[in-house]
Amino acid sequence: MEPFPSDQIQLPRNMIENSMFEEEPDVVDLAKEPCLHPLEPDEVEYEPRSSRLLVRGLGEHEMDDDEEDYESSAKLLGMSFMNRNSGLRNNMSVYRQNPNGSCSVPSTRTMVVCTVVLVISVSLIMAIYLLPKCTFTKEGCHKKNHTMELIYPLATNGKLFPWAKIRLPPDVVPLHYDLVLQPNLTTLKFSGSVKIVVNIVEVTWKIILHSSGLNITKVTITSAGGHQAKTVEFLEYPLHDQIAVMAPEALLVGQNYTVNIEYSSNLSDTYYGFYKISYKDENSKQRWFAATQFEPLAARSAFPCFDEPAFKATFLIKIKRDEKLSTLSNMPKELDKRLRQLSTASIVLHVQKKATTPVTNGIVQDEFFVSLKMSTYLVAFVVADLKNISREADGSLVSVYAIPQHLNQVGYALNTAVKLLEFYQKYFLINYPLEKLDLVAIPDFQSGAMENWGLITFRETTLLFDSNTSSARDKKLITAVIAHELAHQWFGNLVTMEWWNDLWLNEGFATFMEYFAMEEVFPELHSDEDFLNLIFKAMRKDSLNSSHPVSSAVQSSEQIEEMFDALSYIKGASLLLMLKHYLGKDVFQAGIEMYLHNHNYGSARSDDLWDSMNEITNGTLDVKKLMKTWILHKGFPLVTVVRKGKIISVQQEKFLYCVDPENWTSDASFLWHIPLTYITSSCNLTHCTNAYLLDQKSAVIELPEEVEWIKFNVHMNGYYIVHYAEDWKTLIALLKKNHTALSPKDRANLINNIFNLAGLGKESLEKAFELIDYLNKESSTAPLTQALYQLSLIYSLLEKNGEQQLAARVMHRIEQLLGDKIDKQCWTDEGTMSERELRSTLLAFACTHDIRNCRTTATEMFEKWMKSNGTMSLPSDVMKAIFTAGAKSSDGWEFLLKMYSSSVSEAEKSKMIEALASTDDVRKLIWLMQNSLEEEEIRAQELSHIIATVSQSLPGYLLAWDFVKENWDKLTRKFHLGSYTIQNIVSWSTSQFATKAHLLEVKSFFESKSEESSQLRCVKEAIDTIQLNIQWMERNLAKLQELL
Ligand SMILES: [Zn+2]
Repeated sequence: MEPFPSDQIQLPRNMIENSMFEEEPDVVDLAKEPCLHPLEPDEVEYEPRSSRLLVRGLGEHEMDDDEEDYESSAKLLGMSFMNRNSGLRNNMSVYRQNPNGSCSVPSTRTMVVCTVVLVISVSLIMAIYLLPKCTFTKEGCHKKNHTMELIYPLATNGKLFPWAKIRLPPDVVPLHYDLVLQPNLTTLKFSGSVKIVVNIVEVTWKIILHSSGLNITKVTITSAGGHQAKTVEFLEYPLHDQIAVMAPEALLVGQNYTVNIEYSSNLSDTYYGFYKISYKDENSKQRWFAATQFEPLAARSAFPCFDEPAFKATFLIKIKRDEKLSTLSNMPKELDKRLRQLSTASIVLHVQKKATTPVTNGIVQDEFFVSLKMSTYLVAFVVADLKNISREADGSLVSVYAIPQHLNQVGYALNTAVKLLEFYQKYFLINYPLEKLDLVAIPDFQSGAMENWGLITFRETTLLFDSNTSSARDKKLITAVIAHELAHQWFGNLVTMEWWNDLWLNEGFATFMEYFAMEEVFPELHSDEDFLNLIFKAMRKDSLNSSHPVSSAVQSSEQIEEMFDALSYIKGASLLLMLKHYLGKDVFQAGIEMYLHNHNYGSARSDDLWDSMNEITNGTLDVKKLMKTWILHKGFPLVTVVRKGKIISVQQEKFLYCVDPENWTSDASFLWHIPLTYITSSCNLTHCTNAYLLDQKSAVIELPEEVEWIKFNVHMNGYYIVHYAEDWKTLIALLKKNHTALSPKDRANLINNIFNLAGLGKESLEKAFELIDYLNKESSTAPLTQALYQLSLIYSLLEKNGEQQLAARVMHRIEQLLGDKIDKQCWTDEGTMSERELRSTLLAFACTHDIRNCRTTATEMFEKWMKSNGTMSLPSDVMKAIFTAGAKSSDGWEFLLKMYSSSVSEAEKSKMIEALASTDDVRKLIWLMQNSLEEEEIRAQELSHIIATVSQSLPGYLLAWDFVKENWDKLTRKFHLGSYTIQNIVSWSTSQFATKAHLLEVKSFFESKSEESSQLRCVKEAIDTIQLNIQWMERNLAKLQELL
């Protein structure tokens, strides 16, 4: 899946601490938590895994086996028992964190009471749990062969539900699904039946599978040899989205059975499952569109299924539809395939008649070919009035679909998809295995796109290219998203992560391939610079305590949703980039081919990837050992470099962007295996890049000769920050004297690193400002964009926190550095892609902040456009700047809203919505957010974008937060708790806060909500960020006053 890409500009990362599931031990400071350690794990003797103690209702807690056991006994004693290794989890009501993030020391009385309670508790556990070897069941305590009996949660009908875990049991596996669906786009309901052929791995009386919100009317089981389907009992446990099909007799090992389930449901009004979309056709008539979005956990709300990625099966899908609509699914239709094989018109006609199955009046049934073996989250179907264009590519038919009025905008996507498909087939040495690949623009879609096998669904802005209104940046966005989703056809679809903890294997790879393929196939787009900017932003999130390892254990739906974040996508991709440069491109490519070849049509874990790479390196390099230091630990290293003559000393430590390093919940002494790279003044070309593997705390590199300067992390291909200690002076002088001695990416890297170090207090802000003094000579997009980003962060923080005068001085400094460049921009779409993008960035910035007469020019153009009633064509790259200036006046804003409602170009509409959301009129801002949430003129898919824009402006940032607070329940219902959209909304709406009052407010708001809300990673990240902002202000305000 591609998260909505324009949100990537500030990817939120967020966190609930996954410590209870992480492999590494939790670090609990016992000195600070004297009452929290009554039990060492080895003080409690565990029963064997098979004999477990569960308490009715405990199923709602998401724990692994050991924790469930542990937690249950604790619950019985009225205790909160959460931390596997340290015994007890911090009791938040007693040990609430102070606003500054440190832990308060409990009173003596609390400690005494705690100690007494815990001593009694320990004794009770020892007495009840261990000595008599008995357990609590509904009958009470009784002995039964010294093992414990499970007590299960209650099903909806009051009976015991025979399974208590979130994960499905491994005793039954699905082989094949026959799915028949009949959506009704008038009643907005659907009915369905699914026949699942299952194989029994261990003898059992029950089949547990997923179902969510389905009204099941009948369930039957047929044995392999049997002809008679027997109606059987089924139980439902909605808390885990599970049903249990109860067999009338034991299901035998090795045998196949068919479970048939009939059900009905409503088309969803969220963005998940089988959902409905309302839109207006060419005649402004309201129409309905039905589409699916299953990843990660919503296939179960369209049909009962084994909804875990490793349960791969084949699917035969039949959809009954209105004869005027069309349907699409993963596979080609019977009809389409035969049409392609036949050439003469008469036979075509014959087949068409035969293949269209009339059901009732006006309803026909489409049958799709049996799919390849795949995961449930990749199943997809669309029922709508669609038009398409198609082209043959290497044996597969590639088609791009849209609603009829958008058909003229699909050409670019088709060309791009065909080129990328050909590239991937050559690179992976595995052909795309399906006969067709459809790309469909969905009129309302939460994320950027979804890689369903053979049927990729897109938001309209990420697929439709309109030559009049799509900018250089829009073109890049469409290319990137197609490249990402096509890469998934191999990484994710052909080889799937075994469980969501390794989501990075899908998303990190697809993101890495997205940029790699773009560089190879479309070098003119300079996409590597975009990747660089994303890495900078991912590192900012990864430097917070709320970060998590790329591969992190997850169970609950919120935890799974939260894996779709910057770390799985961008950090995952950055680590692959680093590995590719370390191994060399050929070895890396061979490793990837080996991995795909070894695991095709199956599932894989991170270790499988490293094992495949090790097959290629053949003992010369242990990729697994190296990469585990990056995948299983959060954060990244700071490498300090000290140069003395020919001797370079390097030292690594954790880069801690943390207000209170003592609370860092990971091992601070941990060592990464860092493939360092460097260039020097004696040769700074790519072929002169030197490498050194730093796998110790420190090391010494001896150069062949003394050099004038040395620059580490060449092109920022490594995931670490470098501090040059005394040598910053040398690099600052080099940039002033001859900045082109370093590549644009290296220059951007230096700017990024020094501002990060200034934030950390390792380097002075003065030096950071000194480094960017060379910028008036700079003409490359990457360093200019990075400098503008760093200065905008400072400006924004000052502006929102009562330091307007100082903010104005920062803006003055920006003008000194970049004013000439802004003045030089022309208001057209001329130049290279990179120049065009820089123009968009600089002019949008200048018009937003009303500098360099930007608004005068833009307003003139806007007025001409308004006079022409929107018929005059505007240059697409500067369209946003023009609209932003125009929307400052009330008339302009109203006119823009009118044009927004009638525009048929999504590219144009997205620029309009940003401009509308940048008005200073608070009533209009509230109206926009409300209107989008209520899905009136503005779709809900735009809401996170609107909130992002509103929360950046001075009149809007408090409004945005108030809006989030007031509508939290509606927001989490529409977008799902933990989803990428919710992560973005929380991150943006709190990002400008830098006071203790705001910190307290944000904390107490989320604490007042459900535990799931307050435990979200994005909430923890928001709190970390506010604390950092406070710290930044305290540390730098006085210096900034002196400096500017
Ligand atoms: Zn993806």
